[in-house]
Order: sequence, then C-alpha cells, then structure tokens
Amino acid sequence: MLAGGLTHDSHRLEPFPPYITKVQGAYKWDADGHRLVDYWMGHGAMILGYDHPKVVEAVERQLARGSFYGAEHPLALEWAERIQRMVPSAERVRFTVTGSEATELALRLARAATGRPWVVKFAGHYHGWHEPLAKGVLPGEASPGTDGRPAGDGPAATRLVAPDRLDELEALLDTRQVAAVILEPGGGSWGAIPVDVGWLQTVRELTRRTGTVLIFDEVITGFRLAPGGAQERYGVLPDLTCLAKIVSGGMPGAAVAGRAEIMAYLDFRDEAWNRSQRVAHLGTFNATPLAAAAGIATLDEIASGRVLPAIDRLGARLVQALNERLRARGVRGYAYGQASIFHIALGVDPPEGEEPSPSEWQALLEAAKGPATQWLRKAMLLEGVDLMRSGGFLSAAHGDQELEETVQAFDRALERLSKVEPAWFA
Ligand code: PLP
Repeated sequence: MLAGGLTHDSHRLEPFPPYITKVQGAYKWDADGHRLVDYWMGHGAMILGYDHPKVVEAVERQLARGSFYGAEHPLALEWAERIQRMVPSAERVRFTVTGSEATELALRLARAATGRPWVVKFAGHYHGWHEPLAKGVLPGEASPGTDGRPAGDGPAATRLVAPDRLDELEALLDTRQVAAVILEPGGGSWGAIPVDVGWLQTVRELTRRTGTVLIFDEVITGFRLAPGGAQERYGVLPDLTCLAKIVSGGMPGAAVAGRAEIMAYLDFRDEAWNRSQRVAHLGTFNATPLAAAAGIATLDEIASGRVLPAIDRLGARLVQALNERLRARGVRGYAYGQASIFHIALGVDPPEGEEPSPSEWQALLEAAKGPATQWLRKAMLLEGVDLMRSGGFLSAAHGDQELEETVQAFDRALERLSKVEPAWFA
C-alpha cells in the first residue's frame, strides 16, 4: 500500500486520481485506456512534449554507455556550460536531484555567505516541501501547512511576508539579520499570484542595499519564460537561481547557479575552512549521466529559439479562448497566465482594470486553490483533458488541434458544472 495512497500530495483527487500508463506528445493515457490532452506535462518539466525524439535519442545513446556512474563525468561539465550560457546570472553551477534540494542548498549558501540567520519567503510562493520553506504556501496561511517540524521559532526561522507588504520586507531587511529572500519570479504558486517587473526591481533594490542574497526560484520559470528564465524576461538578476524540471529534460535533476563569490562557499581550501566555513554538499544521484544527456538535449532545443515563441503564442490564444467561453456562458471566472503557463479561477469576477489589484489577485489565488478547482478538473477529465489543478503548462507538442479540443472540452465542462454549482453562473 502507498502511504497516503499517493506518490505526491498534489496528485490528490477524490475519489481517485488518474493512473497513467503511457504518454506521447501532448497526450497521456490512463489505465482504462482513456486518452487525455495533458496540461501537467510532468509537473512542467516536459516543455518539449513527452518523448521528444532528440531527448529520447540522447537518453538512449547514454543508456548504452551506462545509466549511472557515481563519478565525475564530462556530460556534467557540458550541462553546466549550457546553463551558464543561457541563464544570465549563472557564473557557477552545482547539481542536485530535486528542486527542494536546490532551494535548501541555496539557503545554506546564503547563510554561509552573509553569516546571518533568517530567511524571508513570500506567502503563496512554493519552494519545496522541506524544513525551512514548508510554510506559507496556501493563501493567507501562517501555519506550517505540515506537522512534524521542530517546535518554536528558532534563530534559523523563516519569516513570512505577504507579497504586497514590501514595507514589512524593508523593515525586516533593515535588521541586517536576513541572509536571503527567496521568491518565485513568475509569481507565487507557479504564477497564480503574478508579480510585476516593478515588484521584482524593488525587491532587488532592497536586497542589494542591505547585503541580502536574492534567490530566484526558477524551478518553474527557468527555460520557460525565456531561454534564460524570468531573469532574462524581466531583466532583473538574482544572486542565486534554483533550477529543476526543464533543466533535466524530464529526468530527475536540478541545480543551483549563481554568483561566483557565493558559489565559492562550495570550494575546498585549507583544512580549517573546509571543516568550519565551507558549505558541504553531497548526494548519490547528483547529475546522473542520463539527466545530463536529457538536460543538454532539451536546453539545446530551447536555445535554438524555435520552441518558446510558438508555445507562448498558443498560451495567449488559449487564455483568450477560455475567457471567451466563460463570457459566452455568463460564468463568473477568469483565465490568465503568462508565456506557456495558464490559470483558471472560477467563482470570482474578472479584474476591473486591465491588471488585477493585489486584493483581486488574492481572490484569484483563493479561487484557483479552492473547491471549484477540483470540480473543474473532474469535469475536464470526463471531457478528455487533464488540467494541472487550476490550469497547466503548454508544451511544444501542443498545437491547434489540442487547443481546439481543450476549448470545446472546457465549454462542455462548464455545462456540467452549471448543474452542480449554479452560483458560479451570473
Ligand atoms: N520550487 C518551485 C517553484 C516548484 O514549483 C517546485 C516543485 O513543483 C519546487 C521548488 C520543488 O521542486 P521538487 O518537486 O523537484 O522538489
């Protein structure tokens, strides 16, 4: 029996989640043989689509030479070079296996580099399930969101700040006790609460002025919002960047990249330094040759410039078409997103202006994480589409046909929902 009945909390769906037995392109098939247009796309990792021929070929070529060495190998160097070339602030790279490990390592590096104890994270931003960052993920939530953490608010505490309270952030940073500010630069919860360039610039200015390490968690946005991630798209550079998902082309793999003088805390020097000041980092499966092969093939496709513009255009068309269906059916709701990421919030009114205000975003987030989302996902599953909860990720394998199928499925799903929850209909 699986503990909790699942392999990942976010797969939870009552009465049971889909069990997938095959994937290809933009599709997946469940154990009963239903074909679904997919918007999970491997939690956002499969930006080229499932089984992209260049990635499959690279992995097969590597498999013939061995799946795992447990040793340094040339592909890891090539992989790191790709990341350095593409991500503007990446001067050095260190590989981990998961995004959670990458964010944890980034915090350690920041504490080592600054000698300060605290870390600031923003409410609604997700950075993994581990100790220091497993709080403040759900809207308005101050509680840890998980049991089993140590009691108390020790010196290594994580301070939680609402994204629209930059005054609180400034006061915290002025104490000079904060080692790092970590954030999702595309907006909290993979963009469900978007942030704008001005917000990122202000956080950058405040962190620079106070000598605080700014960490961009680009686990979602890296290689998606631009070949160099959100930092390239918005022109705001962090000190450290966490990468996962796309970086390893659908194999388990992740990385921390950043400024040489901070990454230098991983360097070996003399005995005294190594024992007391160096940041130790190990991990059996760091940078496996298979992950490196898949990562290099994927990053090369993205660097070619062929991939992102087309998916972004499709993303914009999808958002527009979903909003048209909501309007046509008179449903209270709003589709939004950026690049190849989209969200659907049901049960809220569209924003009054062109850009939603912070309080409107909060309502959108609550809607995006509320019960309507589960109902929408179920209704869409019955119509042959698997949304990643409130929205999803497009890939290079999605095209006009998948968009058409999705919009028609959405229309029929709204019809079903009108019978369950008439309050969503004006
Ligand atoms: N950071 C962000 C922004 C994420 O979306 C995720 C996972 O979805 C993580 C960190 C954690 O990555 P992982 O699931 O590989 O530990």
